[in-house]
Amino acid sequence: MSTDRWQAFDQLVQGKQRFVLTTHVNPDGDGLGSEVALGLYLKSLGKDVTVFNDGKFPGNFEFLAQLLPLEAFTPERAAQVFADAEVLVVLDMQNRDRLGRIGPYVDRPGLTTVILDHHVGEAAFGHLNIVVPEKAATGELVYDYMKRDPARLTLGIAEALYTALVTDTGSFRHSNTDQDVHEMAGHLLALGVESAVVQARINQHRHMGRLRFIGHLLQDLKTTEDGTVAWFEVTPELFRRYDVEGSDTEGLVDFPRTVPGVEAVMMLTDLGDGTTKVSMRSSGRVDVNRIAQALNGGGHRFAAGATLPGPLAEARRTMLARLAEAIAALDPEQRPYAAARPAGA
Ligand code: 5GP
Ligand code: MN
Repeated sequence: MSTDRWQAFDQLVQGKQRFVLTTHVNPDGDGLGSEVALGLYLKSLGKDVTVFNDGKFPGNFEFLAQLLPLEAFTPERAAQVFADAEVLVVLDMQNRDRLGRIGPYVDRPGLTTVILDHHVGEAAFGHLNIVVPEKAATGELVYDYMKRDPARLTLGIAEALYTALVTDTGSFRHSNTDQDVHEMAGHLLALGVESAVVQARINQHRHMGRLRFIGHLLQDLKTTEDGTVAWFEVTPELFRRYDVEGSDTEGLVDFPRTVPGVEAVMMLTDLGDGTTKVSMRSSGRVDVNRIAQALNGGGHRFAAGATLPGPLAEARRTMLARLAEAIAALDPEQRPYAAARPAGA
């Protein structure tokens, strides 16, 4: 990544006072961990920092909110927060619609918007965009910036960064887990992070209902006749029955892709408003990001998603057709390596 852009970012950090940090709707451990890490760092420089997202965070990330308040959108609070904000840092996303209700505030005159992200794409809408798809997590990008000032890396910052790293590497199992990731993790442990403690917090099951919900979905796993695609179907009725929410499906879509012969896995979630959320994973050959981008979504080569207008049955038809097309185009001579190369999220 060009040092020019980091210099421009550093100038903003040094020269401005009031910062708002945000991430995508349905925030995950990378978005939230990156917000908290950068937020704590900015606070240590004496800056005013507000973390402001559209939507509440999943309950297992409460420990991050103990480090730095994570505020959820209300129109009243948004008006206050953006009234005198100078810099908006958008983390772990670049497609404007993923800002949800925060989207309209980006254009406020006088506000400088910075995007720090590791997704594939060219949609970045900020005044300053630092987008590095090679990074395993946005937290790694934030770390690259902050480690130039290592004395400011506190245990709280390290825990937040570790959360980002663990989340987006699937606990160091995905193919994005490279030497840099392990070196960063090593540094964070040296700063006092207890890996087992942080991972237990991230992966904790909030209640038994979640296990039964996952059991239900695994039992009900669907596959195409040739076994190349496996998928889950989630409905509002299931959420109610097991008293769970969208974030309770986290990680599940990774399971089936380790079955030999499975090229892609998806989760179709009926959002209850006539639209369907699609979450895809590839076993290492199908570029699911390309499929997601063609449907106004995005992500990474082996982990991507989109929200489709229309009911689940229609999304199922669309997605199965697109995946079948991509799988048909694969080189049949090329040995699939489903079990060996899971994808990065
Ligand atoms: P997940 O399936 O875990 O929700 O997301 C996998 C990856 O795809 C993540 O990097 C996520 O940011 C991206 N992604 C998921 N859904 C969407 C979407 O609706 N739009 C875009 N642009 N990216 C998405
Ligand atoms: Mn991420």
